[in-house]
Amino acid sequence: MSQEQSTKTKNFEVAIVGGGIAGLTLAIALYHRKVPITIYEQAPQFGEIGAGVSFSPNAVQAMKICHTGVYQAFEKVCTRNEWPSKSKVWFDYLDGYRGPKDERETQESVFTILSELGQNGVHRARFLDEIVKLVPQDICRFGKRLATITESPDKKLVMHFEDGTTAEADAVIGCDGIKSRVRQIIVGPHHPSAHPSYTHKYAYRGLAPMKDAIAAIGEERAMNSCMHMGPNAHLLTFPVDHGNTLNMVAFKTNSEPWPDPQRLTRRATREDALKDYEGFGPNVMKLLNLTKPELDVWAIFDLGDNPPPTYSKGRLCIAGDAAHATSPHHGAGAGLCIEDSAVMAELLADELVSEPGHLEAVFATFTAERKERGEFLVQSSRFIGDCYEWRAPGIGRDFAKIEAEIIKRNSIISNVDVGKMCEHARSELGKRLDR
Ligand code: FAD
Repeated sequence: MSQEQSTKTKNFEVAIVGGGIAGLTLAIALYHRKVPITIYEQAPQFGEIGAGVSFSPNAVQAMKICHTGVYQAFEKVCTRNEWPSKSKVWFDYLDGYRGPKDERETQESVFTILSELGQNGVHRARFLDEIVKLVPQDICRFGKRLATITESPDKKLVMHFEDGTTAEADAVIGCDGIKSRVRQIIVGPHHPSAHPSYTHKYAYRGLAPMKDAIAAIGEERAMNSCMHMGPNAHLLTFPVDHGNTLNMVAFKTNSEPWPDPQRLTRRATREDALKDYEGFGPNVMKLLNLTKPELDVWAIFDLGDNPPPTYSKGRLCIAGDAAHATSPHHGAGAGLCIEDSAVMAELLADELVSEPGHLEAVFATFTAERKERGEFLVQSSRFIGDCYEWRAPGIGRDFAKIEAEIIKRNSIISNVDVGKMCEHARSELGKRLDR
């Protein structure tokens, strides 16, 4: 079934908790398949931070399945490598470090990783602004922070929000991110997967005007995506905002605990970043010098130590980061969120799914179809992040091995047919529903 073919409105109501990339793409996909939905978002409005996010080919396929409008929104705000000769380049990988006796003024590329779509970065907030236009206001409820869920005598799920209000639905899908309340409700508050864990990496994020970046490191490096590798730290850059802005993410690994696990960001300064990158080469230092004097540092948490044992329980389910929050080193976390939305929408829109009694089978199928891929991404992302920092066991600073690992793992993420994934999921659902 495709989004155009489903015509009958379903005899059940679905609640989506959380309106980030996962919740919104799912809402759009379901709304246009005539599945009745309401989104409950804790914030007063939908919003994303002003950083960049890039998408791999699987994510772009999934956008098209969710709804062509999602893909059009992406194309509208997407920025690719600026040089035509780099149109298929995902990242140029550079030796970003300069040892004590190293006199080099620049760092050369040690290998290049290609991708069918090259690099395509979007400014998160602009992408979100575009996809929000596809969501009718009357299905959105703001200021609704989910506290708990109970069941009513007539078998409806009752969501209790922190403002004291309640709302009912036949099924609840938690797209409520890395600290998901719905995940805690599914696995229990004391289960290890109820909370994410710190990966001992943190990241400074910055945006710089492209003209300043070009003045600092030259056109080739500023206008095209680069990964500057080095010991225990790596800096990635790609153009966003139609080439007017350079997006920078500077990662650092250390063994210190994160000061406050309740807060995933802390304040820092440009000086802190420069200190963390001591010994790195001139390009890296010039880029860091373009950041603002006051910076936010983002702790990289994930579900790698304690993956949830299931993504669903009865008519409760989780998708997106709520299910498989990952470190960002494959640049594929949001892409997997959109894949989830495509698969979930195709399952719920299946003609066999017509009444509340079918929803448990939908969510069990979703778990069976999505869990292995979600867990792979989380583990592989940790490993590849360590490769960029010359700390992966058996890989170290061997550039040929790092390149081979990236190619192998990127292929598992990108070289898939998301349409076939959806078809397979629907056929498995058919078995559960005795088709
Ligand atoms: P979120 O964006 O966290 O959205 C969750 C929503 O739920 C929020 O709106 C929140 O307010 C709401 N919410 C939470 N709790 C409640 C509650 N109790 N009640 C009601 N609402 C609630 N991925 C890529 O594909 N490519 C990249 O280049 C990339 N770069 C990244 C760089 C960094 C530094 C990081 C940290 C991540 C990166 N990712 C990337 C991963 C990507 O950002 C995430 O996978 C994605 O944004 C998660 O979307 P989500 O909708 O699942 O969760």
